[in-house]
Amino acid sequence: MNPKRIIHLKDGKSESNQKYVIYWMQQSQRVHYNHALSYAIELANQKDLPMLVYFGLTPSYPEANLRHYYFMLEGLKEVKGILHHFGINFVFKLESPEKGIQRYLGDAYALVMDYGYLRHQKLWRKEVLDIAVQKEYSLSIDLIDTDLIVPVRIASDKAEYGAYTLRPKIKRMYLEFRDFSRTPVLKNKGHLNIDSDDDLSDIKKLTDQLDIDQSVKISPIYHGGYTNASKLFSDFLENKANQYMLSNDPSLSLTSKMSMYLHFGQISALEIMDRMFLAIDHGHLDGASFDAYIEQLLVRRELAFNYVTYNKGYDQFESMTEPWAYMTMNEHEFDKRDYLYSKNELESYQTHDPYFNAAMKEMVFTGYMHNYMRMYWAKKIIEWSPTYKEAYQTILSLNNKYFIDGRDPNSYTGIAWCFGKHDRAWTERSVFGKLRYMNDKGLERKFNIEGYVKDIENIINNNPPIVKS
Ligand SMILES: Cc1cc2nc3c(=O)[nH]c(=O)nc-3n(C[C@H](O)[C@H](O)[C@H](O)COP(=O)(O)OP(=O)(O)OC[C@H]3O[C@@H](n4cnc5c(N)ncnc54)[C@H](O)[C@@H]3O)c2cc1C
Repeated sequence: MNPKRIIHLKDGKSESNQKYVIYWMQQSQRVHYNHALSYAIELANQKDLPMLVYFGLTPSYPEANLRHYYFMLEGLKEVKGILHHFGINFVFKLESPEKGIQRYLGDAYALVMDYGYLRHQKLWRKEVLDIAVQKEYSLSIDLIDTDLIVPVRIASDKAEYGAYTLRPKIKRMYLEFRDFSRTPVLKNKGHLNIDSDDDLSDIKKLTDQLDIDQSVKISPIYHGGYTNASKLFSDFLENKANQYMLSNDPSLSLTSKMSMYLHFGQISALEIMDRMFLAIDHGHLDGASFDAYIEQLLVRRELAFNYVTYNKGYDQFESMTEPWAYMTMNEHEFDKRDYLYSKNELESYQTHDPYFNAAMKEMVFTGYMHNYMRMYWAKKIIEWSPTYKEAYQTILSLNNKYFIDGRDPNSYTGIAWCFGKHDRAWTERSVFGKLRYMNDKGLERKFNIEGYVKDIENIINNNPPIVKS
């Protein structure tokens, strides 16, 4: 592993009562290509200790609902099976993780945490570090950035202005971060007699008993876990990747659908990139398609992580975009809106625009939407809301409610982009001011947008929603 992935938080000392090394799995919910897990195994091997992987599931995770929990639990169930196979103890508990993990700290030789990029994830990790220091536990603590190809703080030490400022920096160093060979074999496969974990075997039963928002149904199309991610990506590589340059057309369905798996850390961005390199080496993928995909996976995605890292108010209307964008919105605040829709009308696809309605249906029904339609969808909400602030709040709440990949750095950045962040000023017009404008004529001119509408209807008609009894 490139040592730049490691943030060493606390020294430890070796003591005879130490029973294991813990990896607190939170952001990176996978075994494959998980630098944090590998690092923890290496520490355990140095001392010939067994390993404990801990996952705490809180029913009050910010904005999470049944759709999110179900997808995540499908992945965790698989993680549990693989870890068992590797001789690694796994404890899954229904509790707040930053509290639950504390009961294991006193007996540990080392704690390894994966890096979480959002505010509450950082606070959780800080709380655990503070407790360990305060209680003078002897364990060492390290934080490992394993969900990005180039860790944010290494790529840049400041908020980047746009993709064009981050791109040259990241392109200079990303090859140094092709640093995963394989998960080390754990030497001591000893079974730890610690309190039994909660039952992950029946996800439906488990989610039924959780006190969570059950109103958003499980996606009938997308299912969680590394195996599903990996199969979907193989299909993308075989059948779609060479046409990725055409993937802007929503009717062609040429994108990889990796965002939901990346969001839960069920697959690693580095593994995806390594598989793209392999396809190039074997002559299955052309360079232009590779570059176009890497632009999204590496540059655009990591720009989003740069954004949430260096913009503390990444989820607040007042602090999410650029001064020029606020200025133009102030100037156009009272422009007449030709259509005004309530959040409820938008959410139940009751607008005059069939393309918006189709996109909204895709989101509500499947938990996914194509990138181009996400832009169009959000731009229309700006156009049809009484104020920009209300538009922002509606977009953010629907985004995070329905998308499986919602509540991600990419969510906040994608939405801020619609309000001018990482974009430039365009020709001034009513309602949008200098913000980029999108309209239905553009969709009709560029794409087979009627085909997209039909596809969504077909998906809905052929896949009745999974309604939990
Ligand atoms: C208004 C709006 C809201 C968005 N909300 C989310 C969200 O909640 N969660 C989320 O993950 N993404 C969000 N995005 C970014 C983007 O639309 C999705 O990441 C992408 O559509 C996911 O589909 P895919 O995996 O098939 O993409 P592919 O085209 O196959 O791209 C591969 C990967 O590259 C990254 N990527 C692709 N497009 C972008 C982009 N525009 N910005 C940053 N990274 C990108 C993603 O990690 C993606 O999985 C949003 C964009 C907009 C404009």
